[in-house]
Amino acid sequence: MVRIGLGRDLHRLEEGRPFLLAGVHLPFPKGEAGHSDGDVLVHAVIDALLGAAALGDIGELFPPGDPTWNDANSMELLAQVWNRVKSDKWQLVNIDCCIICEAPKILPYREEIRSALAAVLETNIESVFVKGKTAEGLGPIGEGRAVEAEAVCLLTK
Ligand code: MG
Repeated sequence: MVRIGLGRDLHRLEEGRPFLLAGVHLPFPKGEAGHSDGDVLVHAVIDALLGAAALGDIGELFPPGDPTWNDANSMELLAQVWNRVKSDKWQLVNIDCCIICEAPKILPYREEIRSALAAVLETNIESVFVKGKTAEGLGPIGEGRAVEAEAVCLLTK
C-alpha cells in the first residue's frame, strides 16, 4: 500500500526570533513567530506524515493552547511523530518540500536542511528534497512579513 500526504504551514516573521528550518538557524534579523520554536518547515513535514498515515494533524497532537508545547523544539516533535508513523509499520519513500519567503535565500542551507530532516526520518538524503521559492514581492510573504512551507510525502507498507 502506498499513501501520499500533504502538509502546509505559514508563520509570521518577527524581529528577534531565530529563523529556523529543520532546526538549522539561518542568520536573518527576523524569524518565525509561534508558540513553539516556529519551525515552519518541520510543521509542514509533520502534517504531511500524519496525513499520509491518517493519524491526525499537528494541532491535534500538539495543541497550540497547551503550555507543554511553549517553545517546543519542532525537531523533537517530528521525531515523536515519526516514531508514531513507524509504529504503524509505514516506511518513508520520499519527502519533497517548498519554502516560500522573500529572504533569506534557502539554497546555501539546502543540504544542511535536507541532512537534518533525513537524520530524524532515518532515511538517506536522496529521499528528502527542499526547494526555496519567493513570492515575487507580492502579498504578506513578498513583503517579508511571513514564511510558508509546503511538504508532500509518500509512505509505503
Ligand atoms: Mg506552525
